[in-house]
This record gives sequence, C-alpha cells and structure tokens, in this order.
Amino acid sequence: MAVPKKRVSHSRTNMRRSINDRLTAAQPSVCPNCGEPKLPHHACMSCGKYKDTQAIEVKEVK
Ligand SMILES: [Zn+2]
Repeated sequence: MAVPKKRVSHSRTNMRRSINDRLTAAQPSVCPNCGEPKLPHHACMSCGKYKDTQAIEVKEVK
C-alpha cells in the first residue's frame, strides 16, 4: 500500500484547500419584502416570506 513519505504541514494543507474555500463562499441576497440579507432559495429569516407567500412564522425575539 502506498504511504505518504513526508508529513504535510498545516500551512501546506491550508494552501491546498484555499482554492476551494474561496469558490464555495455563500452569496447572500436581499429580501424584497423587508430588505434584510437572506440566503438564496430560502425563506427570509426576519419576515418569513418566500416569493410573496408566508412560508414560515417568525417569532419575536427579545
Ligand atoms: Zn424579509
């Protein structure tokens, strides 16, 4: 079985993964009802609306 010859440092691991890390960053959109930032294809977390319908009930948080 093939075995790695040298231990890969944390720095080298992070440098390898950095390409994928910046490609998969979330792109927030703005809610058309209340203007709060929300995730695309998700109901708004502050007003509960999704495409002009009340998708979820929003409870008031103190
Ligand atoms: Zn909203």
